[in-house]
Amino acid sequence: MPTKAQLESYRAVEKRLRVLFDTFHDLCVFCFAESLASARAGRRLSPATACCCLVDNQVHDYWPVLDSVHRRVEGPSWQKELERAGVGLGGKRVVRGPCLALSCRGCVLDKFRPPTCSTQLCSYIVNVMVDLDVIKKPRTTPCQVEDLIGEASPLDVLFGVRKGQVNEGDISAYLGGIERLIRLLRAVPEDQVRNAVERQVMTIQGQVARQRR
Ligand code: SF4
Ligand code: SF4
Repeated sequence: MPTKAQLESYRAVEKRLRVLFDTFHDLCVFCFAESLASARAGRRLSPATACCCLVDNQVHDYWPVLDSVHRRVEGPSWQKELERAGVGLGGKRVVRGPCLALSCRGCVLDKFRPPTCSTQLCSYIVNVMVDLDVIKKPRTTPCQVEDLIGEASPLDVLFGVRKGQVNEGDISAYLGGIERLIRLLRAVPEDQVRNAVERQVMTIQGQVARQRR
């Protein structure tokens, strides 16, 4: 089980990663809504194009660690939260996506998500960054934040899913890399960011339209 200090550091990094992902506006919300509509219509979801939460299972392997982290930081409200969301309760789940933390409202975890949920950059997000010249071609495939910033992620150790040691320097270096990426994105004029996001929204719409044929 991670220490209190490790969990505090995890949360501090997670918050900055959320700021990074906020740069992409509602791309994830749109992606999730389209994939959910496709799943409800009985269409087969492709792992390459569907919302990552519907085709990945980040929670399954991490569940014991994740459960104990949330019990510790949220106390009794954690179990109530799960029940409210209808997640992890067998037949009560509406979305049959592989991730056990997924509900029809999206991810039930608003903090202390498994590490890769906050660091994975899908092909849509990578394409936005390539489009904005924040990262260079030929990268078009999904990657992790650490692949772009060149700093090892301390998150697996801080969350308790991997044994090892990380020190303040490792955490600062990783945070510094995230800040550099945020700065690069913020240096791009807002209308260009929105246009690049919109192009990915149109890509998703095109894929959904092809599935319907
Ligand atoms: S990270 Fe990518 S695949 Fe996942 S919901 Fe956001 S846009 Fe969709
Ligand atoms: S934990 Fe949340 S963000 Fe991560 S895959 Fe599951 S539903 Fe998505």
